[in-house]
Amino acid sequence: MDKNCIFCKIIAGEIPSQKVYEDESMLVFKDIQPQAKVHLLCVPKSHFATLAEMNEEQAELVKKCFIKIPSIAREQGLDSGYRVIINQGADAGQTVFHLHIHILGGQPMGEKML
Ligand code: 5GP
Ligand code: ZN
Repeated sequence: MDKNCIFCKIIAGEIPSQKVYEDESMLVFKDIQPQAKVHLLCVPKSHFATLAEMNEEQAELVKKCFIKIPSIAREQGLDSGYRVIINQGADAGQTVFHLHIHILGGQPMGEKML
């Protein structure tokens, strides 16, 4: 837990969020400023800032996130596809420095930026 981190505060329940899924490894909640009809954030329950800083133990949590994402997407009705994004650092537009995976869908995403 990083006391200055907004996602740690969400994980701790200090800041409310619209939770979609939770287990011992991750929390999945709705993005506050959705960029698509469905926009979820999958956040491992270990504070580390970026993909570039991830250690082996944290990588195990991220692996669990990726294993879980397809069933969460199914539950959200994203049957015709979705986009999974990790922003790494400033040029990618990362604004919250607690690693998170964006899950975007519920509409055609177009071919802009992948
Ligand atoms: P990044 O730009 O770092 O990849 O993504 C951070 C995301 O977190 C943004 O899409 C932003 O809307 C979302 N976000 C920032 N603060 C909050 C918050 O307090 N609650 C929720 N649910 N999402 C947040
Ligand atoms: Zn954090």
